Amino acid sequence: MSTRTAEIPTAAAPAAVEVHDVHKWYGAHRVLDGIDLTVRPGEVTVVLGPSGSGKSTLLRVINHLEKPEVGYVSVNGELIGVKRQGERLKELSERAILAQRSRIGFVFQNFNLFPHLTVLDNVAAAPVATGKLTKPEAQELARELLGRVGLADRTGAYPRQLSGGQQQRVAIARALALRPGVILFDEPTSALDPELVGEVLAVIKDLATSGTTLVIVTHEIGFAREVADRVVFIDGGRIVEQGPPSEVLDHPKHERTRDFLSRVL
Ligand code: ADP
Ligand code: MG
Repeated sequence: MSTRTAEIPTAAAPAAVEVHDVHKWYGAHRVLDGIDLTVRPGEVTVVLGPSGSGKSTLLRVINHLEKPEVGYVSVNGELIGVKRQGERLKELSERAILAQRSRIGFVFQNFNLFPHLTVLDNVAAAPVATGKLTKPEAQELARELLGRVGLADRTGAYPRQLSGGQQQRVAIARALALRPGVILFDEPTSALDPELVGEVLAVIKDLATSGTTLVIVTHEIGFAREVADRVVFIDGGRIVEQGPPSEVLDHPKHERTRDFLSRVL
């Protein structure tokens, strides 16, 4: 483990996301083994790595669905991690965690829509539940966001009546409804039939080019090359290398990165 101490980011120039020396383990199994990652506002970060390398765990730590054993995470300059090596940061109240989580959008592989709610209400639910908007305001916002993802004509449908690609676009609109500072995507197209992948990537690309801060775990290398400001390759719970796509994808420095790319390309 590293012995260096880093400064806790200040509010003056906050990163959208800062992951500092995060270690996460289950029993003896080290799933994250000292991850440092900074995501600047407006930046698009694509995370690549083999199955089991810790990608989902990293997103779950950022979203406070998992607590790291060591290290901390801050979002927009506010700490949501638990401790640094050798010292304890103040534990946040559940209320503070929920408030911070509401500033982070999360799009899952399997959409996770509410099956008993219409498309419109799936998107409108969170701003109402968190007290940010009244129901009519939230529904107006939901209509606007569903238009943005190309589903203006499906507002009254239920999730089961939609294709996987449409469901994932609803999930993206739902993530946008809380006007998050960052949206995390965990393999957003890997549960889709191949012919539906493009429509979802097009929506994510639209977000990327409009300046939304995104962290995307995906195996879609062509997409990564097109939209990523930075590609981060993870193996064994560590960042093996990171940099612009032109470096990491086209001129990888490490054997493990080359080996991974040769298998997914
Ligand atoms: P990836 O998303 O890169 O495929 P994950 O972050 O899902 O990897 O998992 C990394 C490793 O952590 C895997 O070996 C997985 O089995 C293990 N793991 C994930 N979650 C848990 C858990 N709740 N309990 C025990 N082991 C877990
Ligand atoms: Mg995963």
